[in-house]
Amino acid sequence: MAEQKRDYYEVLGVPRDASADDIKKAYRKLAMKYHPDRNQGDKDAAEKFKEASEAYEVLSNAEKRQRYDQFGHAGTNFGPGGFDFGRDFTGGAEFADILGSLFSGGFGDLFGRSRQRQNPNAPQRGGDLRFDMEIDLEEAMFGASRDVELPIGEDCEECGGTGAAKGTKRETCRQCGGRGVVTTSNGFFQLQQTCPVCHGEGTMITNPCHACGGTGRTRKRRKITLTIPKGVDTGSRLRLSGKGEKGQRGGEPGDLYVVVHVRDHNVFERNDSDLVCQVAVPPHIAALGGLVQVPTPDGEASLKIQPGTQGGKVYRLRGKGIPNLRGDVGDLLVRIEIEVPQDLSSSQRKALEHFGKSCSESNFPIGKRMKKDVADFMERRKALLEAQKK
Ligand SMILES: [Zn+2]
Ligand SMILES: [Zn+2]
Repeated sequence: MAEQKRDYYEVLGVPRDASADDIKKAYRKLAMKYHPDRNQGDKDAAEKFKEASEAYEVLSNAEKRQRYDQFGHAGTNFGPGGFDFGRDFTGGAEFADILGSLFSGGFGDLFGRSRQRQNPNAPQRGGDLRFDMEIDLEEAMFGASRDVELPIGEDCEECGGTGAAKGTKRETCRQCGGRGVVTTSNGFFQLQQTCPVCHGEGTMITNPCHACGGTGRTRKRRKITLTIPKGVDTGSRLRLSGKGEKGQRGGEPGDLYVVVHVRDHNVFERNDSDLVCQVAVPPHIAALGGLVQVPTPDGEASLKIQPGTQGGKVYRLRGKGIPNLRGDVGDLLVRIEIEVPQDLSSSQRKALEHFGKSCSESNFPIGKRMKKDVADFMERRKALLEAQKK
């Protein structure tokens, strides 16, 4: 350690024979005075706080104190990395005991990285917002732009975010005199706690703003244009950076998350980048083959049906699906439904009867195979029942 370091006893302002209690008290005093949360941006205070914490870290530990007394600063050069201030500090339960009642936050972020919440005057980032949006499949297919009105939190215009009525100001908290902490005596120790009246802010509102009820925040309906990229699906989350709640005291705005829900569609079902649809085909087209019109994202297309197409057959039209967010376009799966004609005229009926009479088993191979399976079943049934009778 090349740099000149102050004597730890001098840092804490205690004699060399100070008791552990005296050391603790002395440190507490300094920690309160120089704590980064109370001295925002003050480098000198931060340095002093660090110095006091380091001194306390050594002098509060009997073994380290003895080595320090014997060897000076060289005796505290523990291990290859030297004095690991950050690690020792955050790991020390002793420190937490001392400061725990003073500061509401955790103990990992004390040096210049203190939490925003700990300083009521620090800028605060606005909250993130979530907006659930229903869209039609067409919008997911082609993308769209939509204007929505959302209530978004911001500083109250009437009071400028202070929460105090126009013409009045926040007043120094009477409970703590503006210190943000209150002291209660508990035997030997004085206990410091965050002021319950002003919650550590040191000021309070005696005359609240009517527009915001003293919160300093209001919600305004704002028009936002949402651009829906093609390919979104139910569950897709779009992040609009900076479109969330406005920050406080000049803090950055939060983000807006739009969660997409795609409505069911009358024609298409969606399966990631594939689309599924059904087409109704009359029996004579299914039997003779021919062209049927099918809907696709690119418009109507003609699908050639093979002669003898059965109901339930699926045709795959490659590349006629829907894009997903990765940009892949899947296929369109067309499922054939054979629609039996209804409301026949007498001539149609006659024609069909005539056709029926002309048919043989070989025209219906599926029915023929089923008939054979049924016959096999009946034979086995009969054989088993007869065997049981005997
Ligand atoms: Zn207000
Ligand atoms: Zn107070």
